[in-house]
Amino acid sequence: MTTSRRKFVKDALAATVLTTIGTPLILNAAGRTSHSPADAHTAAPFEFKQIPLPYAYGDLEPNIDAATMDIHYNKHHSTYIKNVNEAIVAENITFTNEKDFFSHASSLSAKARNNGGGAWNHNFFWQSMKPNGEGKPAGRLVDVINGSFGSLDKFKEQFAQAATSRFGSGWAWLVQDGVKLKIGSTANQDNPLMDNSEFKGTPLLALDVWEHAYYLKYQNKRADYITNWWNVVNWSEVARRFS
Ligand code: MN
Repeated sequence: MTTSRRKFVKDALAATVLTTIGTPLILNAAGRTSHSPADAHTAAPFEFKQIPLPYAYGDLEPNIDAATMDIHYNKHHSTYIKNVNEAIVAENITFTNEKDFFSHASSLSAKARNNGGGAWNHNFFWQSMKPNGEGKPAGRLVDVINGSFGSLDKFKEQFAQAATSRFGSGWAWLVQDGVKLKIGSTANQDNPLMDNSEFKGTPLLALDVWEHAYYLKYQNKRADYITNWWNVVNWSEVARRFS
């Protein structure tokens, strides 16, 4: 494949990703999606919005079952969205975007922080998966993963270790920190964007290891859930997030 052909394919893939799952994570209070300069000067608080699931509930079978996806999306995630938006209004939270919201997490109530994390993390998680995932990264992400962890297998081993060793409920993450990639985990609904997170960076990939994410199908076998989850990782989306 020629360089220009490769670039064309890459651009076409990126456009597809944006078209299918590029829904804005957040709308402002008026429900506008515009990022025009005029909006930047208004002080209206924003609200979190649940993205449409970019596939059907059963599309990640047999790796993640349809019932789990349905309950996870329609009960758990939607409740985080509802609760954080309640908190934004009730507590008169005036941050106007998610970046400011999370970079001031230490100043938020437990309700705003936990539900804000739950709202954002799940939107990010849904987009981190796709039916029939590529199975492995491509392009320069391969070099960066090899440079950071030695090999793809070693990366997966270390990521799975972070996911299995998170005690109780939480998330495993791959993040970008400058030119390096790092693996870690957070408790509850914390995420690496929060100023007071125990693990920080720019998120590239996330895995929900709350029992509600796998218990119906895997019961106590979190390790099996993680092993099968690699089959549905949306590597082209991970690559898009990498800068
Ligand atoms: Mn969850």
